[in-house]
Amino acid sequence: MIIVLKPDHKEEDRRQLVETLRALGLAVHESRGVQRTLVGAIGDEAVLRDLPLESMPGVERVIPILKPYKLVSREFHPADSEVEVGGVAFGPGPVQIIAGPCSIEDRQLLLETAHAIREAGATCLRGGAYKPRTSPYAFQGLGEKGLELLAEAREATGLPVVTELMDPRDTVLVARYADVVQIGARNMQNFRLLKEVGNLTKPILIKRGMSATITEWLMSAEYVAAQGNQRILLCERGIRTFETATRSTLDLSAVPVLKSQTHLPVLVDPSHAAGSWELVEPLSRAAVAAGADGLMIEVHARPEAALCDGNQSLKPERFARLVEAVATVCGAVGRELGGGDR
Ligand code: PEP
Ligand code: MN
Repeated sequence: MIIVLKPDHKEEDRRQLVETLRALGLAVHESRGVQRTLVGAIGDEAVLRDLPLESMPGVERVIPILKPYKLVSREFHPADSEVEVGGVAFGPGPVQIIAGPCSIEDRQLLLETAHAIREAGATCLRGGAYKPRTSPYAFQGLGEKGLELLAEAREATGLPVVTELMDPRDTVLVARYADVVQIGARNMQNFRLLKEVGNLTKPILIKRGMSATITEWLMSAEYVAAQGNQRILLCERGIRTFETATRSTLDLSAVPVLKSQTHLPVLVDPSHAAGSWELVEPLSRAAVAAGADGLMIEVHARPEAALCDGNQSLKPERFARLVEAVATVCGAVGRELGGGDR
């Protein structure tokens, strides 16, 4: 439940309340806004039955949270959250674009792509070193060597980097190199992995599972938040439907739905949803028009030679055009595009 404190509550009353809740075995999370301080009490609420919370000093009112997720809910944190990554803020401010190859394949290719996307206006670089491939015979990623190359590209461009973690055993290694740790669609409900990244202090980007409902997705975010890490980005990447014209069906309704249910920043990855590069720009425009706080786009210096997802990867010059088109939509919906000072 959420306990709303009076605007003029005494610090001593807040401390007393928090101590009482903790003594009852509840986890306490506080949200201090400009106007109000909210205290979230999470756990078995039956222990609160005999506590006259509403008449405790400093308490204005008590609101039960009916949703199964609490920390990530809008009720708990009414204002949009901002997640800062190496000087780039994801959230209600500028729309940010993460771009880069599906997988890190080669030093020269990565550096060339990284410089090109930075030039075009991207504010973060993506690239997988551990790849979740459907076939065990397909390229699986360069592993730690790939992480080293990604760190070199960050050094060369100044762009923070996003990379996927697939196995809890690699958490420390991946977190050493990544600025944002990505949890892929296939691992959205790997609860052990979610708990592991919940113990990190780095931001976590959680992609939507291809058959996950929005509530299930938010429960995955809650797993991370409940461990103490509330620096979370959500990324819609398409879901499985009966439609076969695209790789997945981009569920753009998820954007405004999430905006009403959660305070977390919402990103859209049109590349994996579309599965073909021609569709990436129109879907990007639509995502920003629908209220997305950012995009994740696959870009490859030579898509025809890519070891993974070449069909959906944009060449750098096409990506530059996409950024221009997205900037126009940002203007139309009253948002700025990040990376404007480049
Ligand atoms: C990726 O971002 O390269 C990826 C594998 O995405 P998803 O988990 O959305 O399929
Ligand atoms: Mn990919």
